[in-house]
Amino acid sequence: MVEGSRFEMLLEESVKLHGHLCPGQVLGVRLAMLGLKLIGIEDPKGKDRKAFMVFVEIDRCATDAIQSVTGCSLGKRSLRWKDYGVMAATFVHLKKGISYRVVAREEARELSKNYFPEIEDKYKRQLEAYKVMPDEELFEVQEVEVEIPECDLPGRPLRRVQCESCGEYVQDCREVEKDGKILCRACAYGGYYRRKDS
Ligand SMILES: [Zn+2]
Ligand SMILES: [Zn+2]
Repeated sequence: MVEGSRFEMLLEESVKLHGHLCPGQVLGVRLAMLGLKLIGIEDPKGKDRKAFMVFVEIDRCATDAIQSVTGCSLGKRSLRWKDYGVMAATFVHLKKGISYRVVAREEARELSKNYFPEIEDKYKRQLEAYKVMPDEELFEVQEVEVEIPECDLPGRPLRRVQCESCGEYVQDCREVEKDGKILCRACAYGGYYRRKDS
């Protein structure tokens, strides 16, 4: 079974990147394979690598698998992280204008019992079941529309400006205007860090 051996190969690769084998790797590899198929991407790391983007909605195990299978990454701007805490990802074909959001179904946890009832350990059962369960039991697929601002697309930065308060440079239109000043987000809204020397 060609598709099966491809899955095994992709799973092996993602386990290498992620550091361990877990239900999240199996689910993430399946989710990514389905997402790519839905938008018609055959060679994500080769000829099709600039044709699509992926939005992930959670920073958990499966996200590493999605990165591994698709070849998309934060640094290439082809992987965007929306901090929703939902096990879902959206695959956007940048040229064809088609997008699908794939959501991991909550029911899959229960349904996994139908496959390997003899495995008592829930974690191990899900891991094995997620390898063989049909896509329809694992995922809900939604056709969606995604508007991507020009500043968020991969490619060269469109703009680079200096913050009028701290002097640091801000790329990709992430600066904000506040009280007539151009500021970085940390200066405008307060940052996630506090400098100890000031
Ligand atoms: Zn994991
Ligand atoms: Zn600043």
